[in-house]
Amino acid sequence: MTERFATVALPLPLASSYTYRIPETLGDRVASGARVVVPVRRRELIGIVLDSDVPAPDATARDILAAPDDRPAVPGGLLATARWISDYYGAPPGLTLKCMLPGGLWGESQVIATRAAGKWSVGGFAGEILDWLEGRAGEAPVAAVARALRRPVWDALHRLAAVGAVRLRVEPPDTAGSAATERVVAIHGEPPTLIERASLFKRRARRRELYEALESLGGSAQIRHVVEQLGFGEAVIRGLVQQGLAKLTTAERVRDPFGDSPGTPPPDTLTEAQATALDAIESLPPGEGALLFGVTGSGKTLVYLEAVKRALARGKGAIVLVPEIGLTPQTVSRLRGAFGDQVAVLHSALSDGERADAWRLLRRGERRVAVGARSAVFAPVQDLGIIVVDEEHEASYKNGETPRYLTRDVAAVRARIEGASLVLGSATPSLEAMARTGDRLRLLRLPERIGARPLPPVEIVDLRVAPKVAGTGPLVWSAALDAAITETHARGEQALLLLNRRGYAAFLQCPDCGEVWQCPRCTISLTVHRSPPALRCHYCGHEEALPYTCRACANPVQQMRGVGTQQLEQMLAERYPQARVARMDLDTTSTKWSHQRILGAVERGEVDLLIGTQMIAKGLDFPNVTLVGVVDADTGLYLPDFRSAERTFQLIAQVAGRAGRGPKGGRVVVQTRHPLHHALVWAAKHDAEGFLHQERELRRSPPYPPELHLVNLIVSGEGEADTASRAAEVADWCNALVARHELPVTVLGPAPCPLARIKDRWRWHVLLKGQSQVLGRIVRYAAQRLPRAGKTRVVIDRDPVSLL
Ligand code: ADP
Ligand code: ZN
Repeated sequence: MTERFATVALPLPLASSYTYRIPETLGDRVASGARVVVPVRRRELIGIVLDSDVPAPDATARDILAAPDDRPAVPGGLLATARWISDYYGAPPGLTLKCMLPGGLWGESQVIATRAAGKWSVGGFAGEILDWLEGRAGEAPVAAVARALRRPVWDALHRLAAVGAVRLRVEPPDTAGSAATERVVAIHGEPPTLIERASLFKRRARRRELYEALESLGGSAQIRHVVEQLGFGEAVIRGLVQQGLAKLTTAERVRDPFGDSPGTPPPDTLTEAQATALDAIESLPPGEGALLFGVTGSGKTLVYLEAVKRALARGKGAIVLVPEIGLTPQTVSRLRGAFGDQVAVLHSALSDGERADAWRLLRRGERRVAVGARSAVFAPVQDLGIIVVDEEHEASYKNGETPRYLTRDVAAVRARIEGASLVLGSATPSLEAMARTGDRLRLLRLPERIGARPLPPVEIVDLRVAPKVAGTGPLVWSAALDAAITETHARGEQALLLLNRRGYAAFLQCPDCGEVWQCPRCTISLTVHRSPPALRCHYCGHEEALPYTCRACANPVQQMRGVGTQQLEQMLAERYPQARVARMDLDTTSTKWSHQRILGAVERGEVDLLIGTQMIAKGLDFPNVTLVGVVDADTGLYLPDFRSAERTFQLIAQVAGRAGRGPKGGRVVVQTRHPLHHALVWAAKHDAEGFLHQERELRRSPPYPPELHLVNLIVSGEGEADTASRAAEVADWCNALVARHELPVTVLGPAPCPLARIKDRWRWHVLLKGQSQVLGRIVRYAAQRLPRAGKTRVVIDRDPVSLL
């Protein structure tokens, strides 16, 4: 009998895979895509079989220890997608597969041996194992068996497994995450008045901060969140409890709010435009795609639903991708309304165990529709018929770590591999998607809102000259926005106010010497926070107390610059005391389901003014929202990134699209100091095509995507000089490669990244510009040669979404 070997990808940053011997006893369980347990140095790891019949390696190969899956965990289509990702993005195959499979199916394994009931006439060492297991209630981890019997046990175990005397299963680590309760601290009793607070919290500022933080989180929070995220000590929590102002409880682990909601039933008749788009999607040849370009409120969701419904009717499955599951409860609820428990919702709040369960249900075909954020593109849906990418232009579709894939492109590749159709949808498509229409994507339009509702008029207020109201502190508040809010509130309608800057103020500056407080670990200014008060770095989480004097010149007054959402919230409460204000940003939504809580309150009409960062710009469909205010349209306009105009256009156009979705109509007021910037001019006209056209011209010279493609090589290291010199080497390496093969590629840099340091690591980059195919060759070389030298690291970011 000839020996068989398999290549196995391990969840480690290794450019290549490893070859192991397949023990006869494991036989055909070792197939491409199957999980196997293999020895790595002195540990046992779970890996994925890439190929199961490869030539014998030069060195002796170790044995695969166990193969827990009856059939491969990673189906063929996904494995092929993984190979494409690994090759295209220059990512190690093991890391690519690691990010595909839920954590619960990975990691350091524990193989459990269970003795099958009955009498087995096995002698020798195998018999000893059976006896020993019997003494342990029939079950024990293999490692424990080996320790107890002081011998290698795998051979004997495989023989036992082959005759059915022992069953081997892999217990993934970490499934304990689904434990039933968690510790919570909750406000107790009536909230004290401001005067009472002053005396209750005299000399106990931290307690007051905690109390108010709990208030802003809706009255309670997990203790873990309070300690780890908000930075309060356990003593502060205990103090508050002793004062009788809070109590500790254990709450039932917060249940999935999608879990048993029946969902919203969809409207039952399609408009003509929707029907036409649907027919076009239906007639796509297998593996091909369409871009559904429909203005905000044009009913794209219903088209997705119908397309998914038809796929199901043909016995196929579907994947629906949304930018962030917490921000799109309405889309999820519509899917559930239409497909009930056919749907698996893959959201980030699932524990590893729950995620692994969802994976198995999909893999077995017991769920046919997967909905989730970017990683749901890897859902093991059987007989995939369609992949929908809603809001395809969203930056969150780019994965921020290795493999740095772009979900839209992975979806296209997977659709092609599995013969599914692809539907990208947006009111503000990316330039890249638009550039592919006519060639690889069919362009489908929904030019009108449902019910022929007009898009809301947008008023651009030039803050340099517009009349302003007094008494709003550092916040520049135009009379126009002020009047709009007052009128909206008087009519009992709701308003959204966008300010894309969280925290209290963007930074703290000395008015005397100009010193700005920066993060000691990152080259970025620290953001001023009020609840709890601190200077905080939004990149690394560094936190320090608010200083009273300038560290450079000791000037006793420090000035806050750049109003953030916390300050806006405070100002609104003072200026519009009758209005109920809620705030939605990263700081108020870090607990499970907090998005749903806030959005639920808006939906029920319990909030008059919802302020928020970009989070409130997406997907919301509230008919009573008749005013959208953009407090400062300029926050992202002049970032040193070629996409800053595109991002600003998308943000303003999307948030404007939240207004006037109901019969009452609506309007939009945008405050800016750059009223003539093309991003704002086109957004004010709701004219995405106009914007795309002009921006496309601007990307021709100097050329940027979609004129050509980019690869950003980011070099980082702890020493500034090391990093710079390594970046120079990387640039030399690229230049030499380009010269040797006469490649049509431009090498820019090395240069420090705009964010020159993050988390104590200096960052330099080398930017490659060229056509995709030739860049692919460089990426393939680079993946083998570049990654590590000494303490510096090189990250390959192909098709980067941000150059910061
Ligand atoms: P988009 O995603 O394009 O911004 P939505 O899908 O949220 O738009 O649809 C906007 C609104 O129109 C929703 O309230 C939806 O229920 C409603 N709607 C969509 N299609 C129809 C239809 N065919 N008939 C009636 N109402 C519809
Ligand atoms: Zn930092």
